[in-house]
Formats: sequence, C-alpha cells, structure tokens
Amino acid sequence: MATRTRFAPSPTGPLHIGGLRTALFCFLHARNNRGDFILRIEDTDQKRFVPGAEEYILESLSWCGITPDEGPSFGGDFGPYRQSERSALYKPYVEQLLRDGHAYYAFDTSDELTTWRRSMQKQGNASPKYSASTRAYLKNSLSLSAQEVEERIQRGDDYVVRFKTPMAGEVRFYDEIRGWIVFQCHELDDKVLMKSDGLPTYHLANVVDDHLMEITDVIRGEEWLPSTPLHVQLYEALGWTMPNFAHLPLILKPDGKGKLSKRDGDRLGFPVFPIDWYNPKDSKELIAGGYKERGFEAPAIVNFLALLGWNPGNNQEIFSLEDLIETFSLERVNKSGAKFDYQKACWFNSEYLNHYTSQEKVSTILELFPIAKGRSENDLEFVFNLASERIQFKHEIKDTIAYLFEKPGILEDKGVKKAWKTEKVAHLEDCMQRIQIANTEFSAPGLETMIKQYIEEKSISFGQLLPPLRLSLTGTLKGPSIFDIMSFLGLPECLERVELAKKNYTSKTI
Ligand code: GLU
Repeated sequence: MATRTRFAPSPTGPLHIGGLRTALFCFLHARNNRGDFILRIEDTDQKRFVPGAEEYILESLSWCGITPDEGPSFGGDFGPYRQSERSALYKPYVEQLLRDGHAYYAFDTSDELTTWRRSMQKQGNASPKYSASTRAYLKNSLSLSAQEVEERIQRGDDYVVRFKTPMAGEVRFYDEIRGWIVFQCHELDDKVLMKSDGLPTYHLANVVDDHLMEITDVIRGEEWLPSTPLHVQLYEALGWTMPNFAHLPLILKPDGKGKLSKRDGDRLGFPVFPIDWYNPKDSKELIAGGYKERGFEAPAIVNFLALLGWNPGNNQEIFSLEDLIETFSLERVNKSGAKFDYQKACWFNSEYLNHYTSQEKVSTILELFPIAKGRSENDLEFVFNLASERIQFKHEIKDTIAYLFEKPGILEDKGVKKAWKTEKVAHLEDCMQRIQIANTEFSAPGLETMIKQYIEEKSISFGQLLPPLRLSLTGTLKGPSIFDIMSFLGLPECLERVELAKKNYTSKTI
C-alpha cells in the first residue's frame, strides 16, 4: 500500500517551530517511501479558530519547501481537506458507534459537571473523570431509562456523544519510535466524540478522516500519545485497519526541562515561529518574530529541524532537503526529547551561506552592492567569501565589507587612538611608496611578501605597520586578510585611502 502521511494542524495561531518539525518528518517519511504527503486543516473547534492561521501555515511550509501533494488549495482525490467543510461526513459514524454500543448519549450540563467534579474532589478524588467507573452516577443513556433518554432527545435537550471505554482490560498499540505501548482501560476517560452542536471533536474527526483519506502513517508530536488509546479503540470499534503510529519526541527548552514555549524564546532572545506573526485584528502589530525575518535561510532551518530528534547514524550534519528525503527513517528518530539549541541554528545558517553556489554568491553581492556591477564574477565571489567567513546571516554582509566598495570616511575612534601614531604612519607612507615604485603584480601573495620584507628590513613588528594600514583602508582594525583587501581594492585606491587618512587624521597622530 502506498505510504500516505498527513500533517493536521489546527488553525489556532501561528505554527510553532515544533509543528513545522512534525510537518517536515511527515513529508520526509512520505517522500522517502515514494508516497504522498497530505495537509489537512483541523478546524472543528470554531471557538479557537484564528483568522490568518491557515495562510500562515501554508506560507511556513512553502518557505521550507515542504510541498503537500494534497490539501486545501493543492487539491486531491480525498477532499475537502478542511474539516469544517466535512461536517456532514462524521454523523453516520457516530450513529454506528451508538448502535453498536461503543458510544452513548450524555446529557449533563457543564454546570452539573462542575458541581459533580467539585463534590468528587471534596471526597478526595483530585481529578475526577467521566469514565466506566463514574458514568453510572451521571446523566447519560447508560444510567437513565430508555424512556427518559428518548424523551430528552425528543424535547431537544442538549447532549454530547461519549465513547464507552471498557471497564477493564488494556489497549495496546505499537509506536514506530517507542515500541509497544500499553494503557489500562481504567486509566482512560469516556471522551466526547460529538459536541452538543452536532460537530465532531478532534478525536472523532481525526480518526474518521485518517481512515477516509487512507492515511497509512500517523506521525505527530508526543503530546498526542495520551489520545492514541482512544483512537485505537475507535479504529477497532468501527472495524477499520489501524495506521502505523509514530509519536515524535518533544522539543525541549534549551536551558532546562519541559517543552519549548514562546516564553522561552522571548526570555532567551530567539524566535519559536518560522515566520513573523502579526495580530490578526491589526496587521501592523507584530506579535511574534520568525526565523525567516531574522535572516535565516530556509534550507538551514530545515536541516536544523531534521536533526532535532532524528540522527543519520553517522557524523554528517549538513543535509539538503533531497539528502534528507533519501536518508530519513523513523527508526532513527529518538524517543527522548530534543533540546533546542539556537546557536546551532545560527551555525547551520552560516554553513548554508558558505555552501552557496558561485552564482548565488555573485548575485547576493550584486544585490547588496549595485556599484559592484562590472567587476568580474571571480571578484564578486571572492568578496562574498571574504564576508561569509565572519558572519552568520546574509544581512550582515553589507556592514562587514562595505569598505570594499566605498571609502571608509570616518575611521574608528578606538583604532585611531591605538594605531595612528606618527612613527607608524611614517612607516605606512614609506611602505606604500615602496609598493608603488616596485610596480609588481598587485596580488595578495605578492603584497604579503613585499610587506614582510619591509618589516624585516626596518626591524619593526607587524603591529607597527598593519594596524594603520588596515585602519586607513577599511576604517577599522578588524577584518579579513589585509592582503586580500588590498588586492581587491587595487593600487590607486589603496594609495588614495592612505592619503585621505593622512589628510584627515594626521593632526590626531601622537
Ligand atoms: N489537530 C491536531 C493538532 O493541532 C492534530 C494532531 C494529530 O496529528 O493527530 O496538532
């Protein structure tokens, strides 16, 4: 049977980075097995519906290159793919469950349930459950007479339909990541399957849709593990073949126990969402920042997320989406939670910059420095490489090497104080004259040899010549190899810059 996975988010807000990882693993598993990846929007809970959330999910997936084969706006043979458009579909299954004795009507109002819970708590039951052991004391079709049930339904009393969990026994299922999992029936409660408005709850809609959409592998976060025994019982009760289950490990806070939350991101200064999220009521108000707008490359985020919980079994760390599709397997997903490491995400980003193709490097530099037009592709790639060794984000390139295209103007104050000394400037002038007279090829190795010779001859240290040289050419004391910079600037520009610095700063020499 062809593999079919699904990502089934509820549009209740922006997609958490953990949700994006779930989508990625579902996608990778499907593609690795030459199967299909389905996007299903689980919007049965209209109270929690947030406008714009579905669009946000689509945009986040698309940014990462996680393209569904089926889904809202993608089409497919198993639609509609939004549960709100499938409401009529669930009722017959509720009726089947009622008819076969796997479900029952419950008439308790929420006030009645609150009173009941309070009284149970007073009697020492800290978290009372509507279950096999308590349902006889509540108002439902198992505790009331058939006649009363009939009357209540006829007169239009509100009711929900609950699943009838067996009193004893166990529910077993195999999890692809965790192995066999056993729940005792007496630990489970009778979950609501259909709400009083006639709409299905998550549990029922999720199972019915997974069945009707012929999902073969349910891959989702660990937080859904407690719901799985009910899902397993629903498959059995409805007489359906169960999909494979795989519950992904939690993504943990970087600095402690527990699930990574938005608050952790705010506290530690990093985003926990893929892209910026704006207030749905006021599109100008940014509520949560995203990785995209922070300047992350999508392939870096995909690579980073893939290794949050999955390991390839060797030391390889850099994977393109295609590599991941080739190598991903659920067997190599860990059970234990994966600690979120923002620095690692930054590291992946810098790796991705270094892995740009020549063409990407050239066009990035041209985009940032239109003035560079006309320089050879080699030169432009060279500029990119000079910058990318020292940065983690593309947007940092401009500030890092702007001096390659424009004169520094104002020199760094600290640098002037430290390096612009009369004796040093005299050496700089002297050395530049030498270079000019030598008239040899103006290449980095040639310049390096010449400058070294000068230093040796004058018995001075590098520290006496290179800092004022660098300062006059770049405006700062830090940066890539000064010989590389000089060879890129060319002799006339180097001479001009040294002259300019002398003119503007000589009075400041000490
Ligand atoms: N709608 C659920 C969610 O929001 C889906 C859980 C599942 O994958 O079964 O995550």
